[in-house]
Amino acid sequence: MKCSVCGTLNNTGATFCRQCGSKLGVRECPKCKAAVEPDAQFCSMCGTRLVSGGETGGRACQSCGFVNAPGITYCKRCNQKIV
Ligand SMILES: [Zn+2]
Ligand SMILES: [Zn+2]
Ligand SMILES: [Zn+2]
Repeated sequence: MKCSVCGTLNNTGATFCRQCGSKLGVRECPKCKAAVEPDAQFCSMCGTRLVSGGETGGRACQSCGFVNAPGITYCKRCNQKIV
């Protein structure tokens, strides 16, 4: 499983990144509660779209890679200013 924070590839089933200690795979489907990959766009169990806010063309944080909704100035994950 790839760490969405630092990009390190961790063993499948790992809970925490071995490089930076971030929790892996923390997202769950809001509809069926299935665990989903951090970078998944749709739930593999029920097909629900997982990108919050329904945004298209969100802005990826240069620091952590988290895709924030358009118009957001500070990353919701790491609070870095998005330029
Ligand atoms: Zn990491
Ligand atoms: Zn689901
Ligand atoms: Zn960030």
